[in-house]
Amino acid sequence: MKLHEKPFGIAIHGGAGTILREQMSEEKEGEYRSNLNAVIQAANKLLILGGTAIDAVELAVMMLEDCPLFNAGKGSVFTAQGGHEMDASIMDGTTLEAGAVSLIKSIKNPVQLARKVMEKSGHVFLAGEGAEKFAFEQGFEKMNDEYFYTDFRYEQLKSAQRSNAVVLDHTDLNEKKFGTVGAVALDIHGRLAAATSTGGMTNKQFGRVGDTPMIGSGTYADDRTVAVSCTGSGEYFIRANVAFQIHSMMLYGQSDIVQAASNVVQNELTKIGGDGGIIAIDRNGRIHFEFNTPGMYRASQSNGEEIYVGIYK
Ligand code: ASP
Repeated sequence: MKLHEKPFGIAIHGGAGTILREQMSEEKEGEYRSNLNAVIQAANKLLILGGTAIDAVELAVMMLEDCPLFNAGKGSVFTAQGGHEMDASIMDGTTLEAGAVSLIKSIKNPVQLARKVMEKSGHVFLAGEGAEKFAFEQGFEKMNDEYFYTDFRYEQLKSAQRSNAVVLDHTDLNEKKFGTVGAVALDIHGRLAAATSTGGMTNKQFGRVGDTPMIGSGTYADDRTVAVSCTGSGEYFIRANVAFQIHSMMLYGQSDIVQAASNVVQNELTKIGGDGGIIAIDRNGRIHFEFNTPGMYRASQSNGEEIYVGIYK
């Protein structure tokens, strides 16, 4: 049987928010597009060669973490203390195993650590010092603070501190931009997986944890239904249990991926005041993007066909 007779696909996001064409330079837009494109190409290649969905989402999120344009890994925003506290999670839709980390300060790719937690710790969720201790025991390299320093993020912190605000990844205090990254995939073996990673919010107080590392809120995958990764105002995504609710509507409510995602994002999340979006892929390889913000950095490729890259509504 030819590989492409089985459906497969990958979708990624680099955050949602007030992303407007009129505020974007051609050069910046080009940078976003080419980075999203490169990530999709790499993950698609892995899937075509028979790789697993869990490997594809881990690879995609690692590449996004390494890109300073996005608020995760290298490009993480600063906390109020001028440091970094990163969160990440990953879930395997076949085994329903999951791994998550929170309040990570010195690991280059938090998604890799989340996967290690899933496979090697006997736990699902490790946070702070304990998570880092586990990382070093597993052979992860300790990165110094300079690795995570970018002028752009430091300026964001100073501007947030001048106005005494705790803000989601943004450039203007009247706007909201969420630069979290995520990936969902279906492989040719029929397996689904999802992963999400973030630096959280600029000027956040120590100890704040968003939806990104919470299984069911920011990330969920189940081979019977769908894989979902979220970005947006974490407090609301936690309360609406966004990713799990989409899965539940498909499992128990017989909704399809579009009905489930649009109901949860446009009704359940919006009615409590949350903003942001989700990416999802179902067990048949159908990909869907849903967001209630003016834009979301996103890209996908199904069955090795043409790559889609989108930014605005
Ligand atoms: N959801 C993330 C958080 O609340 C933020 C984002 O999506 O950029 O930490």
